Amino acid sequence: MNANLFAALHVAFPQDLDRCAIECADTAAELRYSWRDLERGTAMLANLLVSLDLPPGSRIAAQTEKSVEALMLYLAVLRAGYVYLPLNPAYQAAELRYFIENAEPAVLVCAGRHFGWISKLAFLAGTRYVFTLNEDRSGTLLDRAAQMSDVHAVAEKEPDDLAAILYTSGTTGRSKGAMLSHRNLLSNAQMLKDFWAWRSDDVLIHALPIFHVHGLFVASHGALLAGARMIWFAKFEPRAVIQRLPQASVFMGVPTLYVRMLQEAALSPDVCRAMRLFISGSAPLLIDTFKAWQSRTGHTILERYGMSETLMLSSNPCRALDGERIGGTVGPALPGVEIRVVDEQGQACGPEVIGHVQVRGPNVFSGYWRMPEKTQEEFSADGWFKTGDVGRFDAQRYLTIVGRSKDLIISGGFNVYPAEIESFLNEMPGVAESAVVGVPHPDFGEAVVAVVVAQAGVSLQGADLIATLKRQIAGFKVPKQVFVVDELPRNAMGKVQKNLLREQHRSLFA
Ligand code: AMP
Repeated sequence: MNANLFAALHVAFPQDLDRCAIECADTAAELRYSWRDLERGTAMLANLLVSLDLPPGSRIAAQTEKSVEALMLYLAVLRAGYVYLPLNPAYQAAELRYFIENAEPAVLVCAGRHFGWISKLAFLAGTRYVFTLNEDRSGTLLDRAAQMSDVHAVAEKEPDDLAAILYTSGTTGRSKGAMLSHRNLLSNAQMLKDFWAWRSDDVLIHALPIFHVHGLFVASHGALLAGARMIWFAKFEPRAVIQRLPQASVFMGVPTLYVRMLQEAALSPDVCRAMRLFISGSAPLLIDTFKAWQSRTGHTILERYGMSETLMLSSNPCRALDGERIGGTVGPALPGVEIRVVDEQGQACGPEVIGHVQVRGPNVFSGYWRMPEKTQEEFSADGWFKTGDVGRFDAQRYLTIVGRSKDLIISGGFNVYPAEIESFLNEMPGVAESAVVGVPHPDFGEAVVAVVVAQAGVSLQGADLIATLKRQIAGFKVPKQVFVVDELPRNAMGKVQKNLLREQHRSLFA
């Protein structure tokens, strides 16, 4: 049997190919794509790739704005049997040079306005073809594909063949290319289809970027594998998304998207009347946001946990019969996925004991592209992937993520978990959110420092927050200094960039 992920998506296309598959919600003119359009478009793009006579395993890199054509390019790369490499359109020259030199893509697709400098970079690194694809669907990629046949037989693939390389967001050090196989992607997509009870009459609001695991895989695969329609936003705009909620049944977002929708007066139980599922992931969902969403809409957000290297790992239950959704947790391990929490010696931690999160399963990647030593370091001797996350199970095996192990602060020999301090700060009146980091300190090795954002219209004093914390937690955990700022630095997926905060405050105690 052909293990190509595209083959599985393909057979899931509905019988009536003229049905709408994707409706664009934020283009100037109304734009709808039928399943037949996806079928023909991906065939023509796949035929274009085949016509280039590329070596097997060639990487096809794409740095484009979000569009349905860009999604079709991804699907066409799978269809033709090559390896897809999505790149964040925000990357600048130095970053792009690194990815191009590291991955050596045979083909690169970029926006026409960047063709000059990007093609120079790419040709120097050995890339054979550079095509353009613009937001308005113009560019050489589609011009060339338009001349191709719209009939294409899906390339034969083995389960372990590479399907995509996702560069990790790299908030510290060089970003690494996670190699994902057809088996990794398909097993995860099929399991989520059942676990989240996807149906062909679902309608997904797709408002996430498609250079990242969340929007490209979790959201798109979910809808495609169910033969469900998507309402497609090239950019997230809270008001516009809320306006379309009455026609939708599933929404996926990073926590920031929920926070921004909560700021809109139009958000109400009535606009959510057709919704069955709100999913959050990619960064921790604050308990306040979870509760505010419940009271404003009557819906309980389902929080799940995953990463580029492993796809989805755990999820709060979808169906009531599977259990309750518990805010602040990322739920139990998903079916077929194994998760363990271990101490420094690799021994399993008991309930409520914090340790390192390690995982195993058909979803876990095979390694980092051209980094065998790094790959070896990140797997335990008995084959578990070290996620780099720190967490704890409760008695019912619901997992809570406490932070990244590299964010762990060791102050005066004591372990301080930033998430614990952040949760105390976030509970304080007037605090909207916070980030806790460790910075070098001559006596303690590291000192705890907090950066806090106040709720609108509230004025906070760092010294008052410190005084309150002193009454609540052990002295060594109390930040030496608390800064009040307008906002926390975040990357495109809504993750707080703690490396920037550490950098900013590194000389505080020097
Ligand atoms: P990425 O590979 O960019 O998706 O980043 C994966 C990382 O995001 C994980 O290792 C976690 O640190 C974090 N993450 C993803 N989902 C959650 C979640 N629901 N709660 C807390 N952290 C999360």
